[in-house]
Amino acid sequence: MAGLTPLADALDLILADAVPVSETELVPLSDAMGRTLAEDVSAGVAVPNHDNSAMDGYALRAADSTAELQVTQRIPAGQAGQQLEPGTAARIFTGAPIPPGADAVVMQENCDLDGDRLRLRQPVRVGENIRPRGQDLEQGSTVLTAGRRLQAEDLGVLASVGCAEVPVRRSLVVAILSTGDELVEPGTAGELLPGQVFNSNRYTLDGLLASHGFQVKDFGLIPDDPAATGELLEKAAAAADCVITTGGVSVGEEDHVRGQVERLGSLKLWKLKVKPGKPLAFGRIGDAAFFGLPGNPAAVYVTFAMLVRPWLLRSQGADFELPLALPARAEFELQRAGSRLEFFRARVSVEEGQLQVRLHPNQSSGVLSSVSWANALAVVPPGVTVAPGDTVEVLLLDQLNR
Ligand code: AMP
Ligand code: MG
Repeated sequence: MAGLTPLADALDLILADAVPVSETELVPLSDAMGRTLAEDVSAGVAVPNHDNSAMDGYALRAADSTAELQVTQRIPAGQAGQQLEPGTAARIFTGAPIPPGADAVVMQENCDLDGDRLRLRQPVRVGENIRPRGQDLEQGSTVLTAGRRLQAEDLGVLASVGCAEVPVRRSLVVAILSTGDELVEPGTAGELLPGQVFNSNRYTLDGLLASHGFQVKDFGLIPDDPAATGELLEKAAAAADCVITTGGVSVGEEDHVRGQVERLGSLKLWKLKVKPGKPLAFGRIGDAAFFGLPGNPAAVYVTFAMLVRPWLLRSQGADFELPLALPARAEFELQRAGSRLEFFRARVSVEEGQLQVRLHPNQSSGVLSSVSWANALAVVPPGVTVAPGDTVEVLLLDQLNR
């Protein structure tokens, strides 16, 4: 298949084109979800900031384990204790600072209290039930590194070191346009006229871009007309870091996107050795990158995941790693080898401790509901047949959707 670019080559070319946005800003921690760290963040304080008790119980000297001890102080969380003298113990609660002089905590369940006299049922070891200062993070240590796309747990970690404002990169602006004279927007047409279809790609892309934290500029519908296509592409490119179109990028005489990109800018890639997703174009219009995705809705999902997402993450300055390819046992058969790298909408499950994968019965690139049904893509290289029980690679949609 001359002229079709293998996915790995296309990915190399696309990643080589991506230059991380240089503008940065400081945002409040509460607005930082999904944003990309522009700098390493180090811990201004140790976490925890003091040795503290892991239990509700009594702080004491381990060497005093066998003696009868007098309980002389009470230390709730949030308060500091006094020097602990030999032969004494401090009533202490989870998270409260260990008083100077104590070197262990005994759980309250493991001792007997009679008035203020305490006896341990078994000896404790030095350090037992103490969470040492810096156990989580040492003061001055690197907490998170530049390029991290902040997740919920990261916001918590940043809060734990007292970080209130976070240095992040400007969010990429992505323009989307849908081509096709057959398209109507849901809600605008009472009934579909013969030949019309509701525009679904617009919503799939909008959702994918939003869940990655990119800013979406929706330029609506482009009619299948060269002049109108060129005009809207130019407008979109001037307003965004990246323009994504769907449809109109194949070889039919109603397909005007590729020609207009060549007129307005440059085309670096056209046609992939991938199924679904053969008619994909990549190039530049002015300062904006351009992705012309296929019109077929399932192909839009796959090509976004495999090529657009990597470009966007790299250009956002975010760490990009290929999605984990997990080995799974095929619960299906492919008797005829394909000539392109093929992505099948699939469901994985664990049966008897083993990852298994089955395919949606309809793999047509127009069948979008198969993507909603799927929780994974099964990946089969060209020239490969599959028998039940063979091992195939799967990519989890959870890893591709955000
Ligand atoms: P095209 O690549 O323009 O020839 O479109 C290929 C197929 O995808 C056709 O069946 C189109 O009707 C369909 N299609 C294109 N764009 C959309 C869209 N935005 N929403 C739903 N279907 C679409
Ligand atoms: Mg079309």
